[in-house]
Amino acid sequence: MPLFTTTVPQVTNNGRPLQAKKRDFVTIDETLRAVNSSPSEGLRIRGAYLHVPFCFHKCHYCDFYSIVDSRDRQGIFTDRLIRELEAASEFIQASVETVFVGGGTPTLLKVEHWQRLLPVMRDRLRITPEVEFTVEANPETVTEELVGVLKAGGVNRVSIGCQSFNPQHLKSLERWHDPQNVHRSVSILRNAGIDNFNLDLIFAIPGQTVDQWLADLNEAIALRPSHISCYGLTYEANTPMTVKMKSGAIEPAEQELEAEMYLATIHRLAEAGYDHYEISNWSRRTPENSDANRCQHNLFYWKNANWWAFGPSASGHVKGLRWKNIGRLGEYLESDALPPITDVEQLDEDGRTGEQLMLGLRLIQGIDGMTLNDLLNRGSQGEPRRDALRRAVECQLIETRTDGGMRFTTAGLLQADSVIAELL
Ligand code: SF4
Repeated sequence: MPLFTTTVPQVTNNGRPLQAKKRDFVTIDETLRAVNSSPSEGLRIRGAYLHVPFCFHKCHYCDFYSIVDSRDRQGIFTDRLIRELEAASEFIQASVETVFVGGGTPTLLKVEHWQRLLPVMRDRLRITPEVEFTVEANPETVTEELVGVLKAGGVNRVSIGCQSFNPQHLKSLERWHDPQNVHRSVSILRNAGIDNFNLDLIFAIPGQTVDQWLADLNEAIALRPSHISCYGLTYEANTPMTVKMKSGAIEPAEQELEAEMYLATIHRLAEAGYDHYEISNWSRRTPENSDANRCQHNLFYWKNANWWAFGPSASGHVKGLRWKNIGRLGEYLESDALPPITDVEQLDEDGRTGEQLMLGLRLIQGIDGMTLNDLLNRGSQGEPRRDALRRAVECQLIETRTDGGMRFTTAGLLQADSVIAELL
């Protein structure tokens, strides 16, 4: 038996904690009051995530909460989101540093709704021009009019769900967009003055060869995005893709092939001037600053900062407390002010330490010596964690930094999930 199994890093923004105490409170303000008698005092909310739950089609690999809404509820959804933004003001006492509108397909929201929503966001989240303000876009829904409204409302970064330029592979994913519309979207963004954009790509699609993946990657690089995210396809529970895989209708890529694609990605993007800063994320180096194009919002996730969640099924984190807003659009619309929450988790010290190790190691620079030492001296799991790190170093999956910290080796990145599992 190998010490660690081989897994290529998968689609995940932040890992789920292993140890959590589940509690049920009605709303986040009640929850915060229950764990902290003065919830808003000293609370520095650095990021805001807003979830827009509409899509025009459900892609077969997707397990994010989104619906194809035949009832045209965009207007009442926007009203509801505005009420939530107003209700959360108590907790957001200074300007946030990042805003990320995800989904779903935020660019499916009609211009008239964005025109109502953006001034409230600017006001309630105290958005200044320095704030990194990202909106996710499906290339099929990007128009000049919409981008003009977003830009005027403070949006300065767009993340385009590209996934592949190959029509056959888009078809396997049941992803409905014309690859040419990625090029069209990029032109619209650039013409509007938004040069800061990300392209999301997926590799290890059934039937995809390394050459086909590299063709996708090269087409993305040719568009000179400031940021590229590359994820190995995952088979999430209860998605049509997983049903097809289980029935034998599709065959997942072999692990060796997926690993080859990931290593080819690291090599090709380095050659093209992109800095690999997180397991699945690369930012384009600039002559002045090699990390200028990193996604600050995602860095807040990986650094365990406080961020607030808006919209149905959105997840938030404040001082070790994690929660998820109520998941269904109908229930969300029926609620008022701050919505009911579910999946409330308050990690104990061991859980928090494991999570910090996991999140820190996801970053290519790893964890510095002082922080690592501090983490390994906390809680009751310090010794087993030191042993797990020692074994990973012996297997050359983790290397020691000059300051005594640690980071994954390239071989270790291929097995990151299993190494991290040992540390948790
Ligand atoms: S567009 Fe995005 S959120 Fe919507 S179904 Fe496809 S992958 Fe999921």
